[in-house]
Amino acid sequence: MIESTKVTELKGIGDKSGKLMASLGIETVRDLLFHYPRAYERFEDPVAIGDLEEGKIQTIKAYITGKVQSTRGKSVQITTTFFEDETGRLKAVWFRMPYMKNCLKRGEEIILRGYVAMRGNQLVMEQGKIYTPQEYEKLQGYLLPVYHTTKGLSNNLISKGIRQVIDGMTLREDSLPGEIRKKYSLCEINYALRGIHFPLNVEEYYQARKRLVFNEFLDFILSLKELKIEGEKWENEYPVCDFTESEELKKNLPFSLTNAQEKVWNEIKADLASQKPMSRLVQGDVGSGKTILAVLGLISVAAQGFQGAMMAPTEVLARQHYGSIVKLLEEYHLPYQVVLLTGSLTEAKKREAYERIEKREASIIIGTHALIQEKVIYDSLALVITDEQHRFGVKQRESFANKGKVPHILVMSATPIPRTLAIILYGDLDISVVDELPKNRLPIKNCVVGVNYRKTAYRFMMEEVKKGRQCYVICPMVEESEGMEAENVLDYAKTLKDAMGSDFSIDFLHGKMKQKEKDEKMEGFVENKTNILVSTTVIEVGIDVPNATVILIENAERFGLAQLHQLRGRVGRGEHQSYCIFMTPSKSSATKERLEILNNTNDGFKIASEDLRLRGPGDLFGIRQSGLLNFKLGDVFQDSDLLKMAKEVSETLELKSNITIDRGLL
Ligand code: ADP
Ligand code: MG
Repeated sequence: MIESTKVTELKGIGDKSGKLMASLGIETVRDLLFHYPRAYERFEDPVAIGDLEEGKIQTIKAYITGKVQSTRGKSVQITTTFFEDETGRLKAVWFRMPYMKNCLKRGEEIILRGYVAMRGNQLVMEQGKIYTPQEYEKLQGYLLPVYHTTKGLSNNLISKGIRQVIDGMTLREDSLPGEIRKKYSLCEINYALRGIHFPLNVEEYYQARKRLVFNEFLDFILSLKELKIEGEKWENEYPVCDFTESEELKKNLPFSLTNAQEKVWNEIKADLASQKPMSRLVQGDVGSGKTILAVLGLISVAAQGFQGAMMAPTEVLARQHYGSIVKLLEEYHLPYQVVLLTGSLTEAKKREAYERIEKREASIIIGTHALIQEKVIYDSLALVITDEQHRFGVKQRESFANKGKVPHILVMSATPIPRTLAIILYGDLDISVVDELPKNRLPIKNCVVGVNYRKTAYRFMMEEVKKGRQCYVICPMVEESEGMEAENVLDYAKTLKDAMGSDFSIDFLHGKMKQKEKDEKMEGFVENKTNILVSTTVIEVGIDVPNATVILIENAERFGLAQLHQLRGRVGRGEHQSYCIFMTPSKSSATKERLEILNNTNDGFKIASEDLRLRGPGDLFGIRQSGLLNFKLGDVFQDSDLLKMAKEVSETLELKSNITIDRGLL
């Protein structure tokens, strides 16, 4: 089997499943191999009934001591019984599973594994699966991969496909020299690929993950190193020296720049005028006002007769930037044409945009990564700004450099990271920090609460809406998913409507929607037609609705601190007092400790370093990706040790072109 084989050639994957896989970006055997599990199901040791904790999937080994009863509830059939061990008694409940009655015998000792919930004042186990002690023993130690999937495509089918790939593929050569693997205790690459999908035990999983994360980091660092050497040769082909127009605009803004903004703006100006093209990262906490710096840069470039582009990670954000720049140019009577280019435009619209770009009719171009697709031919692209997408910066400069002229690059990021890591990750860039918030801001008020506080939170949100304000509710998931106990946007929006009644306009938004639908929903919120928006983290990046004052984050325990901080940054952007409610069903003290960090400070840098301190290396199973820089497996916070290790190794290695780390592992 070779890597370019289509997945539909695998046993059990027909055209229909093939299409579903394609919708996940999986077309070839290689794609499938690099579709890593998002989590693993584990069959852990049974715990004593007295030690059960609410909100978790747990296992007990106990005797059935209650009568097995089957009743009809309001709308569903319910089976119940009681279990006992030396430490206590536990009620078990099954909904819509009448056959359970026949599987349970009073007096028998069995293993029961299920979700532990608090009902009334007692813990119960819901929808538990039963095993004989022998069956369970066999399963223990296994980690079963759980993949990202889509409706109609089962986890089992993906897993079987990958199994065939791993069993049938010729072994690849390991591009990392043996002595380095030995020195850093890194396992062999084929072992790692098998181990990430089908680890036989936890140790094997750790080994596999360690190797693959290391590869991701090393590849990244080598790219940067190469780029830096390449960059030494570049000259500033687009010098910008006249800032009259942007300075004029700056003076007429409704606010004056903070000292920090002013300092960074001067650095940007100096770069634009210097011998070398700019390659600068502007780091600044959410709401610190990075956008205006980008806009000033774009206008300076346009005034010089060049083109400037700004790339946003989501369509929603690209449209928002586009709208506000058009408005600004009109307001200040600036003569520049702006064009929007995103993947969801119709073909005709795209062609029109391409034309305007190529003929230099448009001097400011706003969009998503559609901006760097091959079809786009720029006339004189002097400045490329990327919002929250450092990696675009790297890849893109490589490709521009190949075409001849290198534009100025400005990367904006709201993710505060400790300096030691920043130096590694942004090694090729000069760094500016906007370390001050505009003065008119009131600090956000935070609280960390249990789910029993939900009603109070709703009342509070209703009051804010009555005052004319708006609210966000964030849920971790789009729709209900088997085996995942977390709030989802679709059901939540319904429940919220029922709870608040028809006086409140509640809408929802998630990443699986069609672009047009997303835009409409977002627009509804921007125009305050929607009072409360229930959303997944698609709204995390950059959205600016200053009238929103409350953000309620459900299942806060499921997000990384950096991400929670970003989410919180959606409020507190205007003059009104804003509030952030972190809600969690978890009673674990570690969760509490993490969330308390956010509760106690609004300072992104402090949060990032605390987060780093709290994340132990043994803590890899949770959903804790900071998402920074889009590594597939690696998390720059959690895996900071591996990042440092990769940096060290990179210093002993030749450049990437000589030692090629497998690109597929990116
Ligand atoms: P971020 O750094 O998160 O991208 P934005 O650039 O979106 O933040 O700015 C957040 C809000 O603050 C915007 O509404 C913007 O107009 C406003 N803003 C920016 N700079 C200032 C300033 N110096 N004084 C007051 N408000 C400002
Ligand atoms: Mg922003």
